[in-house]
Amino acid sequence: MSLGELAPVCVAIVGSGPAGLYAAAELLKREARVHVEMYDRLPTPGGLVRSGVSPDHADRRKMTAVYERLILGSGRFRFHGNVEVGTHVSQEELRRHHSAVIYACGASADRRLGIPGEDLPGSHAATEFVGWYNAHPDFADRHFDLSCERAVIIGNGNVALDVARMLLLGHEYLRSTDVADHALSALAESAVRELVVLGRRGPTQASFTVPELLELKQLGDVQVVIDSGDDLHQEDVDPQAGGGMRALRQRILAELGQAHDGDGRPKRLTLKFLTSPVAILGQERVEGIRVVRNRLSVDVAGAVRAEATSNCEDIACGLVLRSVGYFGRPIPGMPFDAASGVMPNRAGRVVADGHCLNGSYVVGWLKRGPSGVIGTNKVCAQETVTALLEDLVFGRLAPPASDLNAFDALLSKRSPQRMDYRAWNVVDRHERAAGLRQGRPRVRLSRVTEMFHITR
Ligand code: FAD
Ligand code: NAP
Repeated sequence: MSLGELAPVCVAIVGSGPAGLYAAAELLKREARVHVEMYDRLPTPGGLVRSGVSPDHADRRKMTAVYERLILGSGRFRFHGNVEVGTHVSQEELRRHHSAVIYACGASADRRLGIPGEDLPGSHAATEFVGWYNAHPDFADRHFDLSCERAVIIGNGNVALDVARMLLLGHEYLRSTDVADHALSALAESAVRELVVLGRRGPTQASFTVPELLELKQLGDVQVVIDSGDDLHQEDVDPQAGGGMRALRQRILAELGQAHDGDGRPKRLTLKFLTSPVAILGQERVEGIRVVRNRLSVDVAGAVRAEATSNCEDIACGLVLRSVGYFGRPIPGMPFDAASGVMPNRAGRVVADGHCLNGSYVVGWLKRGPSGVIGTNKVCAQETVTALLEDLVFGRLAPPASDLNAFDALLSKRSPQRMDYRAWNVVDRHERAAGLRQGRPRVRLSRVTEMFHITR
């Protein structure tokens, strides 16, 4: 497609994860005058669908291919990989050359615990571990020492369970997945036999979802132990404890604990509730973790809180992975709420000093914070696109000060390894062909330069 054939309203979308892809599809479907230019700091589109979703959930990655086809089919879309806004181009430059900009940059930073020993070797954020096993170029060179028998995972969300499965699934199974080759080799040598997953509140308050809990039943050689803390009657503390999904989740947990009770399986997963980390222990590297038992209480707003008791315990372990949520990163020059990690917005319109910034929008985890599954971003994108199209109809979008030809020239200078959609197709075919030879969905490339060379 030549630049001269582009539709008149040119919208930039920064980020090609689910939120960016849904926003592009929605825009192109609802407004024929719109043309979308999508930029991503990585050469590969998909965001966390490629670099977050765990290798044993490969079917969930199909979403991106479906949407990519839909968007490409419009003939009004271009992808530019290896272009980072804030590094290669500024937000002002982007704004100057497009009618509107939608930020769909996700929330790629990690949350910290703020406890002693957190930076000891052997203590990592789950974000790093997930990026590593998924061949994210930023994490390809990380090293995780898996020579210990026991590891501890902190947090009770789905990411904690993803990480637990990856440590327990075993080489036989993993070698049929698209896990990164470097992780496959390291996991094959892993000595980890026991995992303890810590939840600061009770089973009723855990964030795991039902399908993820049910998957634990299928971990053939893993004994699952449920340690729910004490004999506290949670229903008395949490009035919602009996409700639908929560009750189902508790039933599954009870079944899990019984099903695998002491039947001699070689690996063990303990879900330990009402327990918080206090310190990560060790001289040169992680040797253990000190935890405290909690009791639940309800605060004035009705929220169920974990309250530490005086009951402490040390758990020996050689690896600690904290999986306590992701966090947004600021885009230079754009407003950012450092407390919540989101770009302040009203229904997707970016807000600064109480006013909507003309032509700037946000979607996905950067808009709402790091929660929700892939599909949640679709509704979120519909809201943001509705706001943008309303502004278009009411003449609130100023035409770009400069055209895309000038921007293209600027990008070629600033990001010489820029990769378009055709180049991504080459990488995609290369990875799939290598996968076919090994009976795997794909063999992933994790080096940007390698991807770039393959496309030349
Ligand atoms: P992201 O997917 O993070 O996409 C953001 C994109 O922006 C990235 O491609 C990034 O490279 C790009 N970007 C960032 N900054 C810049 C910049 N400055 N310039 C250019 N580009 C930039 N949901 C499910 O339904 N099923 C699952 O199995 C599942 N597994 C998950 C596993 C993990 C480990 C995690 C963390 C989440 C998982 N989710 C899953 C949730 C789902 O991935 C998210 O809801 C979704 O990815 C959020 O979409 P997003 O587009 O806002 O962010
Ligand atoms: P999450 O669901 O928000 O879970 C974070 C967990 O960390 C919570 O259990 C939280 O406990 C705990 N936590 C936070 N701070 C803590 C602290 N200081 N000490 C101890 N524990 C602490 O986040 P996530 O697991 O990163 O998942 C992010 C989103 O992606 C979720 O919406 C998830 O459903 C989605 N996702 C989906 C899938 C899937 O569909 N298979 C897979 C992965 C991720 P409290 O509740 O007590 O705060």
